[in-house]
Amino acid sequence: MLMSYVHFLFTGLMSVSILFSAVASATDSFNILMYHHVSSETPRATSLTKQEFHDHLKFLQHNNYHVLPLRQALDAVQQGHALPDQAVVITFDDAMISIYNNAFPLLKQFKYPFTVFVNTDPVDQGRKYAMNWDMLRELTRHRGSLGNHSKDHGYLVRKPSYNEKWLTTTLANIDYAQQRLETEAGPQPKWLAYPFGEYNLTLQQALKKRGYIAFGQQSGGVGPHSDWQALPRFAVTGNYATLESLAVKLASKPLPVHYNQLGDPVLRPDQQQDNPPLLRVNLAQPLHDTSRKRLNCFIMGQTYLPQWQDELHFIVQPNRPLPAGRTRYNCTAPIWGQDNYFWFSHQWLNYQPKPSAN
Ligand SMILES: [Zn+2]
Repeated sequence: MLMSYVHFLFTGLMSVSILFSAVASATDSFNILMYHHVSSETPRATSLTKQEFHDHLKFLQHNNYHVLPLRQALDAVQQGHALPDQAVVITFDDAMISIYNNAFPLLKQFKYPFTVFVNTDPVDQGRKYAMNWDMLRELTRHRGSLGNHSKDHGYLVRKPSYNEKWLTTTLANIDYAQQRLETEAGPQPKWLAYPFGEYNLTLQQALKKRGYIAFGQQSGGVGPHSDWQALPRFAVTGNYATLESLAVKLASKPLPVHYNQLGDPVLRPDQQQDNPPLLRVNLAQPLHDTSRKRLNCFIMGQTYLPQWQDELHFIVQPNRPLPAGRTRYNCTAPIWGQDNYFWFSHQWLNYQPKPSAN
């Protein structure tokens, strides 16, 4: 009798403390949405229609999401300040003309801040599919901010060697774009969105030294354990443009992982004996039992149960090799006591010198 009462009291107290810690941590992370085109005439995978984009903004408004400027959200997490609950940031890659024509009028109407990552060559070359500098400057007068998406949107790490020459050339490409942004639109934060979300450890370290914060294309949220040179963003275009998909992603929290311990995401041609790569994940804090037991990873259309080594470490590896190009390991677990998910994703690049369709 006493035992069961003690057990009840103990589990009851545990639940309360876990609940409180979950509530408190709700304000230390935010999610970033990633868009490319807002148009019905561009490739569907990286597009959504103007109507769908309007629906997204209405969803954010009706569900009391706080759409924050990227700067404010990053500063809060880096400085350990609380964020408003349900904080979200809107970003676009590639400076497409459809952003100006279709998204910008709606963003102004909703008075939402946003960031556009610009690959500067198409703007400098006056390409029809890209915004021009006047348009980009106009965005910055209406809660828009600009980030770096490299000069030419080339593959930064699909190279035969990661030697000194490669690093110098790659950094020169990024610095050139930064200089063009600043010449045309005034001082800008050092924010880089990797073209195709592809990076390696050497580039990350060099960018960190130069004061850049960098963004990938793997999914997940930004929080105290993030890797600041590989911040995740949720793609919400193509098949993922539905409000159902948007709602799940917006409500999710980053799995508390030591993100900067994930290792190099590139599988080189001479590392094919390690394909499929095994991912080792170190958690920053243990999960509630229920979450741990229900952690699932989705890789190449299949579900894999991770192998737990102890309560802070798990490994996951698919049973067949990754194809050339990009593959993501996506892992989710229901958050105990809440109606949402922990989310974690890692993007591998299996680099094969032959060009792939990916
Ligand atoms: Zn891009």
